[in-house]
Amino acid sequence: MSTIYLNGKLMPIEEACIPVLDRGFIFGDGVYELIPVYSRKLFRLHHHLHRLQHSFDGIRLMNPYSNAQWQDLLEQVIANNKTEDQSLYLHVTRGVAKRDHAFPQNTPPTVFVMSNPLLAPPQELLLSGVAAICAIDNRWIRCDIKAISLLPNVLLRQLAVDANAIETILIRDGFLTEGAASNIFVIKDKVLLAPPKNHLMLAGITYDVVLELAAENNIAYEVREISEDELRHADEILLTSSTKEIMAVTRLDDEQVGDGKPGAIFKQLHQLYQHYKATIMRGNTA
Ligand code: PMP
Repeated sequence: MSTIYLNGKLMPIEEACIPVLDRGFIFGDGVYELIPVYSRKLFRLHHHLHRLQHSFDGIRLMNPYSNAQWQDLLEQVIANNKTEDQSLYLHVTRGVAKRDHAFPQNTPPTVFVMSNPLLAPPQELLLSGVAAICAIDNRWIRCDIKAISLLPNVLLRQLAVDANAIETILIRDGFLTEGAASNIFVIKDKVLLAPPKNHLMLAGITYDVVLELAAENNIAYEVREISEDELRHADEILLTSSTKEIMAVTRLDDEQVGDGKPGAIFKQLHQLYQHYKATIMRGNTA
């Protein structure tokens, strides 16, 4: 049984209850984060808390805790759950109030944190790569906010599930934005291409790690808009997220990507990422 945090208290998940008038339930009015934990150590905590603050600012909700308070409560949740590697899900809503679109006054936010076991991506998928499909990005234009209202992402991801693929890659006005729940990179002629961080995509923490690793290891990269045509003619496509880490997309809409196998840059970045994670597990929580 997992232990969760809800509004100041730790409790078994089965005992956690939210009033039906919670604005998260009524309006999807809230923000969230997902932080990976390796060997009970928070991975890039300060980057996640910085992005959380950006989300709070984006929806005009006050951050209820200081970074030190967040760290303390997240560490309590980690300590009260069994596995060494965990994914921590933090969720804050604008609280419980009579249903009205306007912000309620003097209403405390609802704060919820849960932990799930974090499983590394299966080895066979790392070796074979994964299938993805493309779809039109029909979400709102504040995709930089990690909002809990994820209905468009849910519908887009289901298109991939229905097509036996792992992810839906999104195209807006002819350009790549990101995946339904991941960031996407393209490799062409040995250059790693990354779409620019802006209001049309979530600034992934893993995305940042990938670009840092590229810069430190002399992998040529460019941050710029990537056309649908470049995506469809890529030598390699990479998908990144905190839970999926780095995966190679080897089929796109039933066409082979490159030679249909995970490529050299994927292999190099995957190895560098594992090495980077290992240094974090040795004690650095920055
Ligand atoms: N974009 C979207 C829409 C996502 O949901 C995610 C996963 N949270 C990402 C990108 C990847 O972000 P991160 O690397 O921080 O997990």
